[in-house]
Amino acid sequence: MKRLPFIAGNWKMNKTVEESLDLVRGLKVSLQGIEDVEVAIAPPFTALYAVSQELKGSSIHLAGQNLFWEEKGAFTGEISPVMLKEIHCRYAIIGHSERRQYFGETDETVNRRIKAALKQGLKVIFCVGETLEEREKGINFLVAERQIEGGLKDIGETAMQSLVVAYEPVWAIGTGKTATPRQAEEAHQFIRQKIRFLYSPKIAENLRIQYGGSVTPENIKSLMAEEDIDGALVGGTSLNAESFSRIVRFKEM
Ligand code: PEP
Repeated sequence: MKRLPFIAGNWKMNKTVEESLDLVRGLKVSLQGIEDVEVAIAPPFTALYAVSQELKGSSIHLAGQNLFWEEKGAFTGEISPVMLKEIHCRYAIIGHSERRQYFGETDETVNRRIKAALKQGLKVIFCVGETLEEREKGINFLVAERQIEGGLKDIGETAMQSLVVAYEPVWAIGTGKTATPRQAEEAHQFIRQKIRFLYSPKIAENLRIQYGGSVTPENIKSLMAEEDIDGALVGGTSLNAESFSRIVRFKEM
């Protein structure tokens, strides 16, 4: 069984509400009729509600860029899984390297967020990936292993069906340096193997693993040609409707 390709756009801290609506209107037009690729977008929190209204009846899914593990309470500045569900988010991105790098996210807090999201019925895009220093030291697989074991601690087989892994080497994010299809495939194979070991061959076979790091319309096709690359998590290039649509329509190139 071939896994359904999944392309997600992470808008990060970009786009006002008006700009978000403009972009999403453009995407609705350019992605009309797309059925053989699942698509999600992750606008900033301030634009999620407006975008969710605009997406009614569309097959484009909505994702939060992060969440907190409590349902509600005195947690100034945080957003709960319940709140994301209420405005029709289907996914939450968890453990993005920018969260790990700038906001003190650890494997343990990533794990708490993943559990909370899954408990509320959100699907999760769980990000892992090594820094340049870690790759140069030759410990990239060890890092992926640690992030996977830590991030997925106490998460059962059933919950795994609602999870997607995004392999995003930090040195390739926003730098214009893409991992070669070979480098990405090696990492994806390693991750799938690890999931096979931790869970089962079936869970591993069904798991979608996205690649993220300077994905563009020019390199998507060669990445998607690899056996274990099931989609992409796209940052910069997802901010433009035309370029993002070309990535989603990689099969037509
Ligand atoms: C990302 O932030 O998830 C990402 C992959 O960014 P970019 O595509 O800009 O490298």
